[in-house]
Amino acid sequence: MDNKFPGKDVSVSDLKDKFPLVAKKHKNHYSSFEIAGVKFGPKNLVTFAGPNMVESESLIMDIAKNVKKIGANFLRGGAFKPLTFPYRSKKYYETREKGIEWLAKAKQKYKIPIITEIMEEKFIPLVSEVTDIIQIGSRNMQNYPFLTACAKSQKPIMLKRHYGSSLRDWLGAAEYLLFEGNKKIILCERGVSVPHTHRSTSRFLLDLQVIPAAKELTHLPIVSDPSHATFWRPWVESMTYASVSAGADGVMLEVHPKPSQAAVDPLQPINYSEFKKIFSKIKKIKKLLNDK
Ligand code: PEP
Ligand code: MN
Repeated sequence: MDNKFPGKDVSVSDLKDKFPLVAKKHKNHYSSFEIAGVKFGPKNLVTFAGPNMVESESLIMDIAKNVKKIGANFLRGGAFKPLTFPYRSKKYYETREKGIEWLAKAKQKYKIPIITEIMEEKFIPLVSEVTDIIQIGSRNMQNYPFLTACAKSQKPIMLKRHYGSSLRDWLGAAEYLLFEGNKKIILCERGVSVPHTHRSTSRFLLDLQVIPAAKELTHLPIVSDPSHATFWRPWVESMTYASVSAGADGVMLEVHPKPSQAAVDPLQPINYSEFKKIFSKIKKIKKLLNDK
């Protein structure tokens, strides 16, 4: 017990035995790297913005234009979507491969790099042609052969935390990625499942504490996704500020021109003016925290 970090499920020996590549080598060890000209690392704050699902060419073009103008570093948007239930809208079937083409057009026209999810190994070559970062969704966090296949592509990867996973399991999954020699790995906290008791406020709970906890152990950058965590637009703003205050190296926000009309998860996206306001405030918060 006494060789464990306080309040965590990670022991001191885990650092060298279980995830030597993910573990920090010294207290101030933080990875710095660039993806598509965007700097990741201490003191930087990277913003990912876009719809849950790409939906249509005109939608992704409009969103790319607006989030780029506001200052987002990456355009997010799912073409291949993990959905909780098997009942799918027409848009879902239209999006898939076409969605990747639309993302490519948006990237080219608005000069904004892309992050999009891959769910199946067979799509790694197709999606890698367009995306700058492969998103591994929470549901695939512990799909080890898939992690290895994505890592072998040598594309940068964002590894979302499974909503039932401990910090130890999350870092173990990240170790699989680094193990393949892939160095541009980003972690993303997206909310954990909470038991449905009178104490739960929502489907997921943003685990703010995992940000400083992870930063004690790993040199990898950590992004927060308050959209998926809160699942509820009115809470996204404050939880974004809280994430940056907790030390997040970036935020991922769902942005849609008409949030209530989003094809997937319409309760969680923010609109352009909300994104603009949040964007300018998080830059100020980060600056305040960086000032000595
Ligand atoms: C997403 O970002 O679109 C997504 C599906 O997220 P998660 O894997 O965290 O549910
Ligand atoms: Mn989603």
